[in-house]
Amino acid sequence: KTRLYSGMQPSADSLQIGNYIGALLNWKKLQQNHDAFFSIVDLHAITVAQDPAKLRENTRATAAQYIAAGIDPAESTLYVQSHVAAHAQLAWALNTLTGFGEASRMTQFKDKSLKQGADATTVGLFAYPVLMAADILLFQSEIVPVGEDQRQHVELTRDLAARFNSRFGDTFTVPEASIIRDTAKIYDLQNPTSKMSKSAESHAGVIWMLDEPKVTAKKIMRAVTDAEGGVVFDRENKPGVANLLTIYSVMAERSIESLEDEYAGKGYGDFKKGLAEVVTETFGAIRGRVLELLDDPAELDRILAANADRAAAVADVTLATAFDRMGFLARR
Ligand code: ATP
Ligand code: MG
Repeated sequence: KTRLYSGMQPSADSLQIGNYIGALLNWKKLQQNHDAFFSIVDLHAITVAQDPAKLRENTRATAAQYIAAGIDPAESTLYVQSHVAAHAQLAWALNTLTGFGEASRMTQFKDKSLKQGADATTVGLFAYPVLMAADILLFQSEIVPVGEDQRQHVELTRDLAARFNSRFGDTFTVPEASIIRDTAKIYDLQNPTSKMSKSAESHAGVIWMLDEPKVTAKKIMRAVTDAEGGVVFDRENKPGVANLLTIYSVMAERSIESLEDEYAGKGYGDFKKGLAEVVTETFGAIRGRVLELLDDPAELDRILAANADRAAAVADVTLATAFDRMGFLARR
């Protein structure tokens, strides 16, 4: 089976609809015929400041959301990144192969550091993409299903794999990003030209998987559209409506055209109401299952521990090979 790796940061107590559409839905399909590793990447989350008690809770909550959304921890390996020490170890080695200028060109770093200001920006945030490369390469992953925002990081991963292989001998599989073009970027409902994110300053335009249905419906009803009217897909001139149509189409498993037809001649109010129904139906069910899972944290922790053992068994083999090739003396 083809090896696959992906992950999400436990950077909030809930995932947002972009994580669901851009990543989770794709994961769920791919896990059936791939050897899949899905990580909750807490080492990545601390590249911006996290409250320790919340981070722990968010990590369990993220695991519960993976499972509730359909990731099966018996079929796929679903584990917490910090439980597998090899991530940090390989990342250090890859840091020494990464150019300073190369890392400086990463647009996510530029965006996030700009938001935080120079004083709050850490070396960890700068090195984030290198850690991500380590995550992917440790599992000899062939496929990395992510949203559009991660394309550049997967490219860097490919470059680092090829560089390591040419310098030290064939060690890593050079992975490929798997990005579903039309749905790979969901935008903020209040600011439909910027990516929806867990760490957005304002939550007004973020649809959380675990929000109460009432709250979600209200946010959708308040989503920014335009003065022109007309439920028509036009990314350039009607980014708000285009974003809502994308979300609707995925959540209802219907084509954009059939939605345009249904709402032809109707107002945005009707359209948003329809969308709110579809979203709250799916997320309502997921939310119920998440609450059940979080009711038994000991059982959840047990699943995560067993899965971390499986992940470590694979990762440790790759790490040992890489360290050997780099010339580290083996500990005997
Ligand atoms: P943060 O703001 O903390 O970076 P995030 O919402 O960007 O959080 P990540 O944990 O960074 O989420 O990314 C998890 C996965 O979700 C990645 O595969 C990423 O590409 C995908 N993703 C994140 N936001 C979106 C979005 N708006 N549209 C589509 N995919 C997304
Ligand atoms: Mg992100």
